[in-house]
Amino acid sequence: MGEKKTKIVKTIKINADECNGCRACEVICSAFHATPKYSSNNPARSRIRVIRDPLRDMYVPVYAGEYTPAECMGRDKYVIDGKEYDECAFCRASCPSRDIFKEPDSGLPLKCDMCEGEDEPLCVKWCLVDALVYEEREEEVEEEEEQPDEMEIGLEALADKYGMDKIMETLARMSESKEG
Ligand code: SF4
Ligand code: SF4
Repeated sequence: MGEKKTKIVKTIKINADECNGCRACEVICSAFHATPKYSSNNPARSRIRVIRDPLRDMYVPVYAGEYTPAECMGRDKYVIDGKEYDECAFCRASCPSRDIFKEPDSGLPLKCDMCEGEDEPLCVKWCLVDALVYEEREEEVEEEEEQPDEMEIGLEALADKYGMDKIMETLARMSESKEG
């Protein structure tokens, strides 16, 4: 058994019944993650997306989760108020079968980082109807291996797409042109 340590688990409770589809959460998330910060906003770059069905007044915020290099084998179907939704509609993964949760220019995966460095996630702050509620709790967990950071996840996605040799070649070329 490994060492136990205390970990702060951050969660956002989604009250989909309260969501009015305003998309303020998408706007602030994409602006916060723009380079430089707040220089632009584009919901396609947001790490939260609101699945919308305005005719039924139904909106479901979905957070970007883990990157996966392969599509899953099975598919779920959701039936809500008698309407069937796309099998992948509410999935959190950045996966090869769809464009959601991918940086539109580079195709690199996007993942919610809980607005690292901020006291409270900005999508929660900007949601005026409390459809998103931030919660923290302490949990005792086994000492775990470090999780890959955003750059490692991005590199893994590039390696899956182009192959490791191509990436090494490109890096070598870039480094030469910077030095020269
Ligand atoms: S800001 Fe709140 S109400 Fe507006 S779309 Fe996002 S979750 Fe829904
Ligand atoms: S917590 Fe921050 S990074 Fe995550 S979806 Fe909300 S605004 Fe984006």
